[in-house]
Amino acid sequence: MKTATTYIHAGATPDPSTGAIMTPIFQTSTYVQEAPGVNKGFEYARSQNPTRQALETALAAIEFGKFGLAFSSGVAATDAVIKLLSPGDEVIAPHDMYGGTYRLFTKVFAKFGIVFKYVDTASIANIEAVITPKTRLIWIETPTNPLMNITDIAATATIAKKAGALLCVDNTFASPYLQNPLTLGADIVMHSATKYLGGHSDVIQGCLVMNDPSLRDQLYFIQKSCGAVPGPMDCFLVLRGIKTLHLRMQRHCENGEKIALFLRNHPSVSKVFWCGFNDHPNYAVAKQQMKGFGGMMSFELKNDSPENVKRVLSSTHLFSLAESLGGVESLINHPSSMTHASIPREERLKNGLTDSLIRLSVGVEDADDLIVDLNAAIG
Ligand SMILES: *Cc1c(COP(=O)(O)O)cnc(C)c1O
Repeated sequence: MKTATTYIHAGATPDPSTGAIMTPIFQTSTYVQEAPGVNKGFEYARSQNPTRQALETALAAIEFGKFGLAFSSGVAATDAVIKLLSPGDEVIAPHDMYGGTYRLFTKVFAKFGIVFKYVDTASIANIEAVITPKTRLIWIETPTNPLMNITDIAATATIAKKAGALLCVDNTFASPYLQNPLTLGADIVMHSATKYLGGHSDVIQGCLVMNDPSLRDQLYFIQKSCGAVPGPMDCFLVLRGIKTLHLRMQRHCENGEKIALFLRNHPSVSKVFWCGFNDHPNYAVAKQQMKGFGGMMSFELKNDSPENVKRVLSSTHLFSLAESLGGVESLINHPSSMTHASIPREERLKNGLTDSLIRLSVGVEDADDLIVDLNAAIG
């Protein structure tokens, strides 16, 4: 099946009891059993829910994986992956990644004896340099949030295999429409489904997709034992979001390119971070592993005084000042005080995330209107 068909039909079978074409929202906590231990495969909704099951089937299909698991948020999905590990195990992760992932690693899991090593994963040599016999997991995010750095997924998968470590890719920024890490050798794909998968800024959810049945069993065990499962209404919303993912991503890419070029040519803008420019340091890798470059980008102003940055952030009308991304509406965000405030300032600056960086999530509105809005705000 081709992508567009998969997005519409994956996981969707008419409800056998009514014929409803849409998977019902099975708002139930438990299931009546015919006799002790005799049931229809559903016992208790933390362990199984039909709406969640339909979504998990769809998630697996759109990431070209065998198994999907849905979680109550993106960080809950990340949390489940780290719970595969034991004290003393080592994780290699990007030095610039989503602030909430950094916070989970450094503030929650480090105290349980899991060792995190942060490197610039844009260069494979940097990853290789910190691999030890204790490396159990390589975690990458590509493109990174918010600096749009690119890591070579296939090359990282090769060194992870050699080291006997798992490779997990946070694929939130690209979405399954633009990039499929499992086909490039990754073991696990993670998404914040809150973003492009949901697509309408109305749900918090996360997911994992994988191929290896034993890895699926371990992660399912963690999902049901720790209990960070999404409710059926949220599963329904993400299922609905997936049906238009391809259409939305096509427009996010078109608008993203127009806005990136507009910003680059704007006399008041000093630098634009977008992985679709052919002079992006890892453009060749991005072009090879991604089908398009999406709607995420960041930029800096020539006048980078805090007052001017604040003025621009507060002056847009179509771009709403808010955290999050990947919805149909455009958002503007100040990573250093908002999404990435949980990373200490020295760490942020060391990795190139300045106090003046502005991040955009370009929506699917008319690009001309978005450009007028930004142009008026930047001045
Ligand atoms: C938002 C986000 C997360 C966390 O997901 P939640 O759904 O907010 O828990 C993880 N990674 C990236 C890249 C994100 O943008």
